[in-house]
Parts: sequence; C-alpha cells; structure tokens
Amino acid sequence: MSRFFSEKYLDLEPYVPGEMPKNRKEIKLNTNENPYPPLKEVTDAVAEESKKLNLYSDPDSRDLRKALAGNLDVPEDEIIVTNGSDEILNFAFMAFCDKHTPAIFPDVTYGFYPVFAQINQIPYEEIPLRDDFTIDTGKFYQAAGTLFIANPNAPTAIALERDEIEEILKRNAYNVVVVDEAYVDFGAESCLPLVKDYDNLLVTRTFSKSRSLAGARLGVGIAQPELIADLNAVRNSTNPYNVNRLTAAAGIACLKHDDYNMENCRKIIETRTWSEHALKDLGFEMTTSRTNFLFARHPDISGEKLYEELKKRGILIRHFKGERVHDYNRITVGTPAQMEKLVAAIKEILEAGA
Ligand code: PMP
Repeated sequence: MSRFFSEKYLDLEPYVPGEMPKNRKEIKLNTNENPYPPLKEVTDAVAEESKKLNLYSDPDSRDLRKALAGNLDVPEDEIIVTNGSDEILNFAFMAFCDKHTPAIFPDVTYGFYPVFAQINQIPYEEIPLRDDFTIDTGKFYQAAGTLFIANPNAPTAIALERDEIEEILKRNAYNVVVVDEAYVDFGAESCLPLVKDYDNLLVTRTFSKSRSLAGARLGVGIAQPELIADLNAVRNSTNPYNVNRLTAAAGIACLKHDDYNMENCRKIIETRTWSEHALKDLGFEMTTSRTNFLFARHPDISGEKLYEELKKRGILIRHFKGERVHDYNRITVGTPAQMEKLVAAIKEILEAGA
C-alpha cells in the first residue's frame, strides 16, 4: 500500500477471484465458468462489431436491452445492463444502502457482498444460515436494511422456492430486496414473474454462467422502472459506456441462439447428476445443488488438502477458508470428460490415504 492510499480504505479486504492458471492444460473447475464455448455466430458478431471500435458504445444499450426484453419477456424500461453482474450488484449497494440502511445477507454467501459494503462504506449484517446451510427465511422478515439474497446461493448451491422469496418481499415492503440469480438457469425458480407486482424487487442475472460469456462481462438487472432509474443515475455517474460494443454484440448474438445455451444447461445438469453420484460413491457429502457447481466435503480428507492434492494433478477447484465452510470445496461442473478425470484423481488421492 502506498502512503497515498485513502484512509477510508485502510480496512478494505478486497475480493479474491479464483486462480487463473497460466498454463492452459489445467482442468479449471474453480470459477463456475461454462465449459462449452460460445457459438461461431457469437464470435463472428464480435469480429464484425470490432470494425466500429473507434466509436463509443450506445450508453443506453438499446439493441441489447431490446433483445433481452424479448428473451425475458419484460419491458425494455425494466432492464439495465452492466459490466458483469458484479457491477449491477455494486450499483445496488451504492443506490439502495447507506449508513442508515445497512446491507443484509446470509453469513455464507457470495464473498463479494461484504466487499461491496466495505468499499461503499456501508454497514452490513450477516444472518446465519441453518447448520445444513439452508436459509431460515423468517430471519429475513421485517429487516432493517436492503436484502441481498443469492438464489441459488453460492457457494452452498441451495435454492429457495419462488413463494419463499415472495413472502420475504411481502414482509419487507419498505426495503429493497435484491435477488441475485447468477445460477438460476441450472434448475431453480426465477423471481422474474414477481417484478410486476413488487416495486421493491431487483433481480440480477449474468451471461457468465449459463450463456458461456464470462470473459465478455455482461450482467443484467430487472426491476420496475423507478428502481432502474435509480440504478441508471448511479451508472451514468460512474461509467455510462459500461457495456462495450464487443460485449453488446456478443450478448445480442448469444440471445439469438439461446436454444444452444439452454441445451448446454441441460447437459451440465445431467453431468452434475452423474458427478453427484460418483462423488457420493467415494464417500462425499454434499448439499442439493441447483447450480453449475457442487459444494462437497469428505470425512477422511480436509477441504484444503483435497484442493492441494488436486492442484498437484492439474485440477483446480475452489477452497474457501471461512469458519463454516473450510471443510468443503466448491467444484464447478465441467464436461463429462473433465468430471471423469476429477473423479479418477480423487479416487487416487483417497486410495493413497492422503
Ligand atoms: N453472483 C454470484 C452468486 C456469483 O457467484 C457470481 C460469480 N462470481 C456473480 C454474481 C458475478 O458474476 P459476473 O460478474 O461474472 O456476472
């Protein structure tokens, strides 16, 4: 840290992204990316758009929002697009929290939430999950701040049903409730149909998981126009060209061929089921996943040791050091071939009596 760093950030603990290997040979199951690459139609659209890189992108992202309106069946003025969903989440912390309106989220959830609170100097409260990592929804009723609920949650992989979230919305008429649906396409119920009835609901989505565009950075927020206007005020005061031309072109082309994405989600769910069985056969315990990852622990090997042993064998998974989760690992569901290699490597590690 330099002697010039603002003192307001002295206690900041930045978010630590999953490792990015230099050597491409690693099997990368540590950041919940989609193992299937984007279609040629998407990369062709990006190449075509790159001829216009001398021009700024459309600050209102009209074509992309129009494509999203058709895909999600919501009006265009209920949509905002951002540089990854991390950006819409940060905008929500900026727009809907302050020192009198803390951020409230589960104690085991997306690690960026406390960081967004810290960088924006917002107090936050963590509500404990039950011992089995499920959310006790009653603890989120009549809250004294803005709620952030990842559904499905990460890294636990567990989802709430839509009517459970609707009850939270009803019991928080005076608070904004942000429902982070980064993983919703892998088998959970979306809260999008609730947007028309609840002016306190913001749903966030990403193209990073189900739509194979993590590297393009494209996030979406869906809410009634008044909340969207607040978020646009923050966006236009931060970075009005937040979605660049290449990303917008990729997003539009990707939505034109959404059947490909949905078929990939189906394949990932199938591979998830296979992987769950294979890992349970090896003695693993895990939560019920409705995401593209598994949250698993083994009684005979610590989470950290398994992570290290797999890394030695060229397979990256994610290990978190937090008090409640350090026995576990988060394992992204890759292709069937990648998961077969993972299971074989784990078998070898367990047999060696690690
Ligand atoms: N929400 C959750 C729960 C996530 O796990 C992630 C991915 N790290 C994000 C949001 C952000 O994803 P992105 O910025 O790639 O859209």
